[in-house]
Amino acid sequence: MLELKESRYNYRLHYDDQVLFFNGMTRQFIPVPLFLQEIVESFLANPYKTSQESPRFLDKLKSTGLLIDKSIDEIEVIRERHQQARNAASYELILTLDEPFVHQNRSEISLAENRSAMSEQVRQSIKRHLDRYVVQHHLQQLQLEWLGKGVHQHLQHEIKEISEYAVNVCQANKVDFQIGITTHYLSFKEQDVALLKKLPVRSIRLLLDLSNQGKQHVAKEEVVVTFLTHLKQLVTSLPDVLFILLIQSDIQSFDFQSFIQSMNEQFSEQERVNISVFVHDELSASRQNGASLREDMLRRLYQSGYNQQWEDLLPMLCSGEKRHAYTMYGEGSVGKCAVSFNQTAPGYVTTHGNIFWDETTTRMDSDIPFFENMRCLSCKHLPLCMGQCIPIQRIQGEDKVVASSDCLLPPWGISPESAIRNYCSSMMEHYVDDDKSEL
Ligand code: SF4
Repeated sequence: MLELKESRYNYRLHYDDQVLFFNGMTRQFIPVPLFLQEIVESFLANPYKTSQESPRFLDKLKSTGLLIDKSIDEIEVIRERHQQARNAASYELILTLDEPFVHQNRSEISLAENRSAMSEQVRQSIKRHLDRYVVQHHLQQLQLEWLGKGVHQHLQHEIKEISEYAVNVCQANKVDFQIGITTHYLSFKEQDVALLKKLPVRSIRLLLDLSNQGKQHVAKEEVVVTFLTHLKQLVTSLPDVLFILLIQSDIQSFDFQSFIQSMNEQFSEQERVNISVFVHDELSASRQNGASLREDMLRRLYQSGYNQQWEDLLPMLCSGEKRHAYTMYGEGSVGKCAVSFNQTAPGYVTTHGNIFWDETTTRMDSDIPFFENMRCLSCKHLPLCMGQCIPIQRIQGEDKVVASSDCLLPPWGISPESAIRNYCSSMMEHYVDDDKSEL
């Protein structure tokens, strides 16, 4: 028999009158009634005993990753996963128009200074870049993300021209292609909707910024009503697109009750499946305080049928860490990730479509995973998180030490344990249990 040990990434989470034994490496779990917890604990502590007393349950503990071969070094497995994800043949190209977005910290999004739209020369450079890059790197997938406050102003020009070009490049090279859009406002003029329907648009992120309205309840209500009326038109026109609403607001003064009521009045249950909603605080100091409020909001949205993406409890590599991920700005400058952090983008795209870097500022294009630090390597959330909050801290140049217990999991902005509970809850209906009789 193999020598077994308990995975270092096991969780015990209370859920109703059960305990969820969850493994962060496999994202598999076993719900166990509270009164049986001690037996499972003794099995985990003594696999040999389990093999004698309950061989089928031992198989279950192994298949869920709660028990693993003693020789496995889980951190090395995570490093291998990171390398695979980093080198995946999937290219994430973010094209920013007019005003690029800036993360002021890990989960907050705001708008930065004006930038001009793309010149003819930059458009040609991007097309050459697509021609070269897709072939040179044997890509299997291209994800083009259009980003900017005034994206709708560019729909019939830059977006149409480059997206249609990318469709042809990907078709010719048998590359899977999808488009995302992140903006504040999207036009629903007939010709724009027709264009969006023609392109492989998978997701549209819309930012609803309630932070500027201060605490004026009436002003916020008006903004929300206008936004939802507009969103309704988009959702009706584009039934196959996933809409992701990113609400930026002081969480304490956000009137969530009337927001969800208005949402439910606007959208049928069928439409809600294609809508996700996330709420971000504008004040970092309140992020921890707001975590339980945010969690409650997310849960209520989920219960109302919105797609809160709980089943996506996957380690998401920050785009700054992926080999094939760049952000291009309207004037042809290139950065490694979608956030500018008030720094100049360190590269530029040439008229031949190559990216050239200013060697002094290319530290983002490093092979070293962001989680290679003592805090993340000793953190039990590592396989789920992969250290995403680190790049933000690094780039901000802050040596602010955040305890791992303070880390919140994106995109929800809640603790990893809460995200796991919600994940398990959404998976529970598919859970088949035929082995607990052995306990
Ligand atoms: S939760 Fe925080 S400490 Fe843990 S791996 Fe993620 S970023 Fe690192």
